[in-house]
Amino acid sequence: MKQSAVKYVLPMKATVYHLWLVLPVCLAALCGRAESALPARELVQSRLAQECPGLLDLYKHLHSHPELSFQEVQSAARVAEELRQAGCEVTTGVGKIGVVGVLRNGTGPAVLLRADMDALPVKEQTGLPYASAVTAKDSQGNDVPVMHACGHDIHMTWLVGTARVLGQIRDQWRGTLVFIGQPAEEAVGGALGMIKDGLFQRFPRPDFCFALHDDAELAVGTVGYMPGYACANVDSVDILVHGVGGHGAYPHKTKDPVVLAALIVLGLQTIVSREVRPGEPAVVTVGTVHGGTRRNIIPDEVRLQLTVRSYTDEVRRQTLEAIKRMARGQALAAGLPEDRLPEVKVTDEFTPALYNDPQLTERLVSALKGWFGETNLVPKKPSMGGEDFSEFGRTEPRIPICMMNVGGVSPAAIQESQRTGKSLPSLHSPLWAPMPEPTIKAGVTAMTAAALELLGKAGR
Ligand SMILES: [Zn+2]
Ligand SMILES: [Zn+2]
Repeated sequence: MKQSAVKYVLPMKATVYHLWLVLPVCLAALCGRAESALPARELVQSRLAQECPGLLDLYKHLHSHPELSFQEVQSAARVAEELRQAGCEVTTGVGKIGVVGVLRNGTGPAVLLRADMDALPVKEQTGLPYASAVTAKDSQGNDVPVMHACGHDIHMTWLVGTARVLGQIRDQWRGTLVFIGQPAEEAVGGALGMIKDGLFQRFPRPDFCFALHDDAELAVGTVGYMPGYACANVDSVDILVHGVGGHGAYPHKTKDPVVLAALIVLGLQTIVSREVRPGEPAVVTVGTVHGGTRRNIIPDEVRLQLTVRSYTDEVRRQTLEAIKRMARGQALAAGLPEDRLPEVKVTDEFTPALYNDPQLTERLVSALKGWFGETNLVPKKPSMGGEDFSEFGRTEPRIPICMMNVGGVSPAAIQESQRTGKSLPSLHSPLWAPMPEPTIKAGVTAMTAAALELLGKAGR
């Protein structure tokens, strides 16, 4: 997941946050009450306090052993083993590498909880003692450094922590939990691969799907949410601009694809500014331009690569059609014959927009306020980044889904950044890593609280 706007948010009650993690545990211990009689929140905090050292070790292990998309073999094996030990029936190899852990606990709704497992081709520069030194071959066969620069290592840790906690407090909920270790979020295709491999037929079909992403703008102790559209439709478009090559000194004998490509790039800028209805989010970015070999040769072709973003199906269709029309129109204006017009290809690397079911989101926000404090649930602005958790909500009949963001930045770092004006590392940065222990606790708490809300016995 990629974030765009940089706006750091501090927890309003940082001290209170630490107190509510610790206080109920102490109270429970002092009073000596039987654990099963404790309210859910106290039980969760007590179990989480016990599990935290082990989860921290797990997180550091995953962080120092990152794997690229569709290569998450060791990560998947570890997640599978952890879920098994937490009491789940585990199936591996779903959608190539995906893991499904089912925890049944009587009749009730089914809730899917998802963590993604892949890392990125980034060379870690955090300087942490457990930093990654891993290299691997990418899908093109290049040797690349690998790092959990998007925090999917902490997502796996949250999933395992939630399974451990909920597995130990079964008298607090009824229904079925479906834990998902999903491959290849970054490369696109991981979620869809699991769904196409029968996720909703072979395993209990969820009534709700929930996921968390770590957040490099929010402080630990805060949880971000976005009802409705949260991330964009992401399309990749390749344009092969044909020309008629020749000598750089004789342009009149050629059809110059460099000039034509430049006109196409500029023309494309008017799609968002002049064609899409104002207020409808859309992005057309030409990310690469490749053509030519020498300054005095007019080449035969130029290649452009675009990323195209939108929220609605309608704007997506409108934008993609406009790209094809403009490429063709500019080439005709330049005098290219019909058989040399640009080839516009929309690749199948499509990630659909993430739409957080508003009703589900509001329900979970009010539940989580009881755990994190009223002011520490923070509305976030939607982004034009992509996130394939969206796929879980697109199979008919559609399942309501919700993804929230768990802050991972130290309040001191945010205050320092606000004081100096120096930006903090974003997701995908070689410098990004969440504060481990408080972020693990906050994520497991948020995921567990969401599950308890949906499985009927929260907040007793
Ligand atoms: Zn990412
Ligand atoms: Zn991510």
